[in-house]
Amino acid sequence: MKIKTKLNLGVGVLFMMIFVLSVLSGWYINQLKKDTNNILRANYNTLQYSRNMLLALEEIDSDPLAFSVFEKHLEQQRKNVTEPGEKEATDNVVFHFEALKKDSANFGLQTSIRKDLAELMQINMSAIEHKSTVADSTAKNAIIVISSTGMLCFIIAFILMVNLPSNIADPIKSLTESIKQIANQNYKERVHFESRSEFGDLATSFNTMAEKLQEYSESRLDKIIRGKKRIETLIDNMHDPVIGIDEDRKVLFVNDEALKITGLGKENFVGKLIQDVAVNNDLVRDIIRDVIVPDKMDPENEKEPMKIYADGKESYFEKEIVDINIVPTGEQQSRFIGQVIMLRNITPFKELDLAKTNFLGTVSHEFKTPISSIQMGLQLLENEQIGSLNDEQKNLVSGIREDSNRLLKITGELLNITQVESGLIQLNMKASDIKNIVDYAIGANRSSAEQKHIHFKISIEEGLSAVLADSEKTAWVLNNLLSNAIRYSYENSNINIDVRKIDDKIQFSVTDTGQGIDPQYLSKIFDRYFRVPGSKKEGTGLGLSISKEFIEAQGGEITVKSEYGAGSTFSFVLNT
Ligand code: ADP
Repeated sequence: MKIKTKLNLGVGVLFMMIFVLSVLSGWYINQLKKDTNNILRANYNTLQYSRNMLLALEEIDSDPLAFSVFEKHLEQQRKNVTEPGEKEATDNVVFHFEALKKDSANFGLQTSIRKDLAELMQINMSAIEHKSTVADSTAKNAIIVISSTGMLCFIIAFILMVNLPSNIADPIKSLTESIKQIANQNYKERVHFESRSEFGDLATSFNTMAEKLQEYSESRLDKIIRGKKRIETLIDNMHDPVIGIDEDRKVLFVNDEALKITGLGKENFVGKLIQDVAVNNDLVRDIIRDVIVPDKMDPENEKEPMKIYADGKESYFEKEIVDINIVPTGEQQSRFIGQVIMLRNITPFKELDLAKTNFLGTVSHEFKTPISSIQMGLQLLENEQIGSLNDEQKNLVSGIREDSNRLLKITGELLNITQVESGLIQLNMKASDIKNIVDYAIGANRSSAEQKHIHFKISIEEGLSAVLADSEKTAWVLNNLLSNAIRYSYENSNINIDVRKIDDKIQFSVTDTGQGIDPQYLSKIFDRYFRVPGSKKEGTGLGLSISKEFIEAQGGEITVKSEYGAGSTFSFVLNT
């Protein structure tokens, strides 16, 4: 039933009952009024007239006016005959009074009149008694009917009071609860109300809405789950170990490769704090070191690959930590939500690199002996005692010497680089004579400097004599810097060699006034195999990188300053 109909019906019935109650009460009151009026008019007046007639009868002997008073009341009584038998009694009074008028001294007639009047009073008193009983029963009926109608009204009102509010409030409450459930994304929620009421329509609309929301969320969820599975499969099938953590460093996912190298099960990882996992696993501890203390990240160390036993052999991995930042919907600022740790397996490259280093080592080592014998042969050829050469032959021999020198330099550099690459730089650190180092380097470059008419200007700070260094390697570095300076200087220029003490270190500098280095290449100058584009043909691009390695292996530092077109200064510092 519709709520509106229910309300109309409830209030209508109540209204009807109140109306019936009012009509009944009015009717009964009216009835009672009629009864009492009847007694007053019909009987009470007769008693009054009879009493007055009796009083007049008492005065009849002494007062001549008493007859007229009696007659007046008798006349009124004759008009007020209402009860059965009252007419005969009144007629008797009239008859005897008429006789008394003629014979006023007749006591017998007076007595008869008294008797008639008593009869009259008796009739009316009986009538009063009867009517009073009737009124009494009318009153009783009124009480019963009115109170039962009132009771019915009360019951209906009570039923309405108990049922109507809950009839309206209960569905609203249940609907509110269901809306809350929907707001909490519980789209399975439904409401069931009586279908014929307004709430029934509301429930139908609500259920349709919930069903559509459920359908939408399930289709969206399905899409999300499929997307998640796809990404999980992708990560699992990656050949490199991957670990994902959230902003609290709780592990979100870990792929099979990562499980393989750490030797842990998924259950030891996923959902756990990565630092807790690291407590029992050295490898995980190594992997997450930069995650836990990012400030201590050492850029040199970062480049150093991690050595891990995997695939039944020693493998090399490069670690990369990617921060995941997202901009939440409706927000401006991006928020950090976790990190992905990736280990790139670089073992094949390492193996190739090692093969290359070994190859270079072997080849350059093998080259040394034939080059030495070529140089020995040249020496013999140049010896006048064996036989003199014509000018053309001398030119050929000097060309061969230059080439063999270059070959020797290259093989020397290649050998050095194999040492550097295999991490096996053997140092012989001792207090070395500075002058010897400088003299060696100058001696090695004298002839090439002379060819270009280049002068060396040497300045060694007074009092400086020794440096804590591997003299051979330091001399090699200085030699390399000098040979570069000569190579990239113009003819008839000067090269300054400067050795001085700065703080507690000793600085060697080689300054030339040559072509200088384009600023864009300065940062790459110490990289392996790097040569400034357009540089003279000879050279391997290894000299400066080997120099850097040699100086750093001794705890020193090498730097360059250059003004493009005006010259360069290469300096290195070593401990005293
Ligand atoms: P290379 O065997 O080519 O000399 P280096 O490592 O010694 O290799 O030098 C790398 C590059 O740096 C050179 O190719 C050259 O272009 C540049 N370079 C080195 N020294 C100087 C210098 N004194 N003046 C200008 N350029 C230089």
